[in-house]
Amino acid sequence: MANVPTLNPFEISQRQLDMAAKKLNLDPQVHALLREPLRILEVHFPVRMDDGVFKTFTGFRVQYNDARGPTKGGLRFHPEETIDTVKALAAWMTWKCAVVGIPYGGGKGGVICNPKELSERELEGIARGYVRAIGRFIGPERDIPAPDVYTTPQIMAWMMDEYSKMVGYNAPGVITGKPLPLGGSLGRGDATARGTVYCIIEAAKVLGLELKGATVAIQGYGNAGYFCGTLMEELAGAKVVAVTDSRGGVYNANGVDPEAAFQHKQKNGTLAGFGGHKAISNDEILELDVDILIPAAIENVITDKNAANVKAKIVAEAANGPTTPEADAILHKNGVYVIPDFLCNAGGVTVSYFEWVQNIGGYYWPIEDVHTQLRAKMVQAFHETHNMAKENNVDNRIGAYMVSVQRVAEAMKLRGWV
Ligand code: GLU
Repeated sequence: MANVPTLNPFEISQRQLDMAAKKLNLDPQVHALLREPLRILEVHFPVRMDDGVFKTFTGFRVQYNDARGPTKGGLRFHPEETIDTVKALAAWMTWKCAVVGIPYGGGKGGVICNPKELSERELEGIARGYVRAIGRFIGPERDIPAPDVYTTPQIMAWMMDEYSKMVGYNAPGVITGKPLPLGGSLGRGDATARGTVYCIIEAAKVLGLELKGATVAIQGYGNAGYFCGTLMEELAGAKVVAVTDSRGGVYNANGVDPEAAFQHKQKNGTLAGFGGHKAISNDEILELDVDILIPAAIENVITDKNAANVKAKIVAEAANGPTTPEADAILHKNGVYVIPDFLCNAGGVTVSYFEWVQNIGGYYWPIEDVHTQLRAKMVQAFHETHNMAKENNVDNRIGAYMVSVQRVAEAMKLRGWV
């Protein structure tokens, strides 16, 4: 039988863990427990739609590992959500929180739905229905959700309100990524991208790459992609030359204005046709001759089929799971410097942690403090990963896994779990 590489994200996450476990000589008992989530909840809940009819929705919440603290991780509202994707994302959250050294385990959730086809009222119904269904499973000391693909601060607000009604008191610490008036943190909005840019700045230092005027291509123009564009210009002096979303995008060697591109997308629902620049597809952008490529959309976009054509010097994974293990091997062999997802996009959860700390302490930080603390966490995690990879002669992803797995394993041992 032909050896077709798997695109099942959970199997991919297990394979990555296995590689790191081997390099670490990890205790097989610890390894076995880390290969599976501790808890999985599947729920089905009714929502009254605008036509008056109740529709049943399916949701998941996975608590992958909580040895280092309560589980933490976002919620996706996606028509193609599957339990395997949620399991993989929950595993990656475990490694993400460990690599930046914040006191959380990893979790993830999702609801199968298509937000593009829902009214505001229906979206609120799903948000509240989902929280009523999983409410006893989450909590500020237990499991703390947050935004992810197609979920917003407004959705976090409805969820926090629903949970607060369930427990009978105001509980802002149950969820992060909230709007500012409800206990959100300054700096949470662009935190994922800011963390990515801090990593790129460190990567450029170790590679001796000049970032001023360096060219940048961004695949995916949601929260992370958009802010990566504006912040690469603002903080690094780089030049965005291409941006795409699932329906198309544009390229111009002289530069594409990231802010105006966002306005165009807001207005037209896609980047396609922006500014009269040359059209480019979501696939073509990955093979552009640029200095920095930022995949900021979804899983499995860099595979064994196109990895050899990646010309960027740095691939900064703002998305979760954009590169398959086969592609990783090709990129590593070709000397492409990959900043792996759970390090590269850890800025979001890091500022979520700051938000939770502020909610618990009831004292709110100025934006400068958020930026300084975020930068410190990202810079330290970047160099710990870089050094681990260098010392063990592995790619950065396995280096990051080695840092994280060691930390989670140590917590499990200290607790006496294994
Ligand atoms: N969903 C984001 C992530 O994948 C943020 C999670 C959080 O803030 O808890 O990292």
